[in-house]
Amino acid sequence: MSKFTLLVVEDDTSVRNLITTTLKANDYRFITASTGEQAVMETASHNPDIVLLDLGLPDIDGIEVIRRIRGWSNVPIIVISARSEDSDKIDALDAGADDYLTKPFSVDELLARLRVTQRRLALMLSSNPQQAIFVNGKLRIDFASGCAYLGDEELHLTPIEYKLLCLLARNIGKVLTHKFITQSIWGSSWENDVVSLRVFMATLRKKLESAPGSPQYIQTHIGIGYRMLRIE
Ligand code: CA
Repeated sequence: MSKFTLLVVEDDTSVRNLITTTLKANDYRFITASTGEQAVMETASHNPDIVLLDLGLPDIDGIEVIRRIRGWSNVPIIVISARSEDSDKIDALDAGADDYLTKPFSVDELLARLRVTQRRLALMLSSNPQQAIFVNGKLRIDFASGCAYLGDEELHLTPIEYKLLCLLARNIGKVLTHKFITQSIWGSSWENDVVSLRVFMATLRKKLESAPGSPQYIQTHIGIGYRMLRIE
């Protein structure tokens, strides 16, 4: 764990200290930045493994920081924002953030998000994105044959359910917004498609989850989107 270097971008000294104290206590290495310009510069010069990014910065907006970093880097970005409005989280995710935390957050919550992101990173490094078989817990997708299995049972999915499952699987650990999903599946992002998405997600879950009421594989982010979780 200690090999990971985080970039902590936060202009509020007390919040920054809370984060860095937590990181220190848990053996993470880190560097800090307190402005957006500094965040872009530090990302370019130090190549951190994960960026923790406050959205409300004194110079440029956090969303703009994400856009600039995404111009050349796929480093995981976890947004930490006091803005509780869903639209800000959606803008950040659509700009290329991987996950978000809303202030005030607990130290345990922060550490949990870091673990999720580290698992995603480890997976990204160990697997070839073109690889033909995807495995997560009991779920197995054979991209070449277009079949999905749960344990030994083949899942009988409709073409849309299968596309949805593949999209979530290929982005495992990342929160995908409604807009991103509907654009990927239908090539549009109308409100109607968000309603359809909910319906398809419900039928997919019925086939995939042993208890659709407390899903194991696909997590709902109310008003925002969905994420496939890594099963240990
Ligand atoms: Ca701030």
